[in-house]
Amino acid sequence: MIAAGPVPGEEFFSALAQPGIRRLRAYDPGHDLVALRREFAIRHLVELGSNENPYGPSARAREAVLGGLHALHRYPDPLGGDLRRALAKHHGVDVAGIVLGTGSHELLMQFAQVFAGPGLDVVASQYGFAVYAIAAQAAGANLRLATAFPREHAMARGHDLDAVLAAITPTTRLLYLANPNNPTGTWFAADAFAAFMANVPRDVVVVVDEAYAELVDATDFGSALQTLPRYPNLVVTRTFSKAYALAGMRIGYAIAHPGLIAVMERVRESFNVNHLALAAAEAALGDHEHLRWVLQRNREELARLATAFTARGCFVYPSQTNFLLVEFGARTQAVEAALLADGIVLRPMAGYGLADCLRITVGERGENTRLLEALDRAMS
Ligand SMILES: *Cc1c(COP(=O)(O)O)cnc(C)c1O
Repeated sequence: MIAAGPVPGEEFFSALAQPGIRRLRAYDPGHDLVALRREFAIRHLVELGSNENPYGPSARAREAVLGGLHALHRYPDPLGGDLRRALAKHHGVDVAGIVLGTGSHELLMQFAQVFAGPGLDVVASQYGFAVYAIAAQAAGANLRLATAFPREHAMARGHDLDAVLAAITPTTRLLYLANPNNPTGTWFAADAFAAFMANVPRDVVVVVDEAYAELVDATDFGSALQTLPRYPNLVVTRTFSKAYALAGMRIGYAIAHPGLIAVMERVRESFNVNHLALAAAEAALGDHEHLRWVLQRNREELARLATAFTARGCFVYPSQTNFLLVEFGARTQAVEAALLADGIVLRPMAGYGLADCLRITVGERGENTRLLEALDRAMS
């Protein structure tokens, strides 16, 4: 396995780095899955640690990738024109208001590169996605975390938009929200968000990360895309990694006012999205039937797992995603270790200040059955 933790010589070069990078710790991607796959090659590793889609992408996306193999020696379309036009039509927005990224992760980092910096504040919520803090620190900005709802609230540890609003200062230029949020799975309602936006100063760029939006069923949820036309300082990010099952292709996008997108374009690496990813994403976007099928399967299995964990005495956070945050209390570490030894990978949450929880991706039916059987062995 590639070692985690400090590397010899790191301290010396850290001292040479710009101040924001000195304090920064790299994103923790969880276990070394390549090493684990080798170890569990015979029994088949059950990978429920990264919120990937177990069903895989549309067959049309696979065909599009094969169709692109003849052109590996060519640079991809630097404008991503075909995909951006398809997305513009899909969402009913201006094509000039869309920027593509090597995953939405890249774009989340670039928003901080563009709008944050030393002497400026970035606002996010406690228990929000880890990338926002990394982006703010890498840009040398000061991160202000709003206290999340308490665990006992209906939106257990979800974003408290009033607290987020109160965290904004005169030097705040950038604010990140995730809806639904990772790792809690919680969401905020469309009307609460509309009230929130009405109170955000116009010189604060609000990034709403909707990585799981396609998976949501809750009727009070509404995409921030509906609010976009009223607020030029609002940005929505989406990804092909989750509902569209293209995590390995690395492609996501942001939608905002064309003026804001034009400034983002200044720092975008010209060929950031490769042509296989462009073709796969466009094909996946067009396959509504496959998406519907995935959403239906996820819905059933999410409910099944939530019921099963609750029946075993665990607190399950409300989720509108393809994962569940589950409390195992004092047994958390032991449960995680026992399941890993059984070839089932979950995501420990100590890094998020949730050491008594595990984040569990909803797998396909057979994987979930294996998970529950292993859990019963671990907990008995
Ligand atoms: C998975 C995830 C992303 C998507 O990242 P990509 O770089 O597009 O794969 C973004 N935000 C959140 C909250 C996520 O959980």
